[in-house]
Amino acid sequence: MEYQIKTIGVLTSGGDAPGMNAALRAITRGAIYNGIKVKAIFRGYKGLIDGDIQEFTTQDVSGIIQRGGTIIRSARCDEFRTPEGRKQAYDTLVKEQIDALIVIGGDGTFTGARMLAQEYNVPVIGVPGTIDNDLWGTDYTIGYDTALNTIMDCVDKLRDTGTSHERVFVVEVMGRDAGFLTLNATIAAGAEAAIIPERATVEEQIEEAIGQGRRKHKNSAILLVQEHAIPGGAQAVAKMIEQRHPEYGTRVTILGHLQRGGSPTAFDRILASQLGGYAIKALLEEQRSIMVGIRDNEIVYVPLSQAIQQKKDIPSDRWNALHMLSI
Ligand code: ATP
Repeated sequence: MEYQIKTIGVLTSGGDAPGMNAALRAITRGAIYNGIKVKAIFRGYKGLIDGDIQEFTTQDVSGIIQRGGTIIRSARCDEFRTPEGRKQAYDTLVKEQIDALIVIGGDGTFTGARMLAQEYNVPVIGVPGTIDNDLWGTDYTIGYDTALNTIMDCVDKLRDTGTSHERVFVVEVMGRDAGFLTLNATIAAGAEAAIIPERATVEEQIEEAIGQGRRKHKNSAILLVQEHAIPGGAQAVAKMIEQRHPEYGTRVTILGHLQRGGSPTAFDRILASQLGGYAIKALLEEQRSIMVGIRDNEIVYVPLSQAIQQKKDIPSDRWNALHMLSI
C-alpha cells in the first residue's frame, strides 16, 4: 500500500522540558529523510488554532540539540479543551494540508491529541516530554533526567551551607502529582527524606530524618518535598519541623522553574533523538494514537489512552532503599 502522509505537523505543549528541542530535531530530520514535509506549529495548541505555522528544513533544527526549552515555544491553551477550539485546530490542519500530527508533551497534551484524533480521525503520535516522568508505559520521559540532575546539584550546594550552619533545609521540588523527581533526587543527593504524594508519611519521615539523623550526630538534614505532597508544600513541612524541633534553624528553598531549565543531559538528548526518530517510524508503520516510549531499554508503542489513564507508581524497592540509606 502506498504511503499517504506527505506532511506532518509537530508541536510542543504544556510545561517545557529540556530535550524537547532534541526531539524536534529528530522528528524534523527523520521526516525529511523519509520524504515527508515538516510544519512546525508554534506555541502548542494555541498555534494550531491561530495558524502560527512554519515549514521547517533540516537547517531550522541545526544547533539546537544542546538547548533547553523549546524553540517552537509552548503554551497552555484552554480553547483547545473546547469542541469549538478543536474544530478550529482541525480547520488549520486541513488548510495547511497537514496529514498527521506529532505532539511532544505530557498527559494533558496527549489527552488533547487523543480527542482531536477521535473527533476528526487525525493520525496523532505522542512523544513524552515532561520533567515529571508521570506517563504510564514509558520508564523515562524526555527532560526528567536533566531536571533530576539539576535538583541534585542544587541539593549538593545546600548541603554545604546546611552543614556549616547546622540547619535543616526543606526543599520543594516540582512533579505535578508524581514523586519520581523528589524520590530519586533524594537518593542521588543523599538527602534524608522524600515527602511525596504516593506515600503520605510526613510526621514519621520528619522524625526519622531529624530525630534519627541527630542521634547519629548528623549536624544537618535535608528533606525534599514534592510540591503537592501536602497542602502548603515545603512551607507547611517547615512549620511542622519548627513546631516539633524549635532548636534547629529551618530554611525553605523552593527550586521552582530552575528545575525546567538548562542544557539537556546526554541521556535526555539520546532519548529524545531515539523517540523522535521512532515517532516517524511509527507513522510510517501506520500506528495511530500511540505514544512512543522506552521500557527495559526497548522502544515501545503505548496506546495514548493507556499512557494517560493508567497510574505509574513509584518503585517500592526505591522507596525502601531510601529508608535504609538515610539512617
Ligand atoms: P506537563 O505535565 O509537563 O506540564 P502537560 O502536557 O500535561 O505537560 P497541560 O498543561 O496539562 O500540560 O496540557 C497542555 C495543553 O493540552 C493544555 O493547555 C490544553 O491545550 C491541552 N489539554 C490538556 N487537557 C486537555 C483536555 N482534557 N482536553 C483537551 N485538551 C487538553
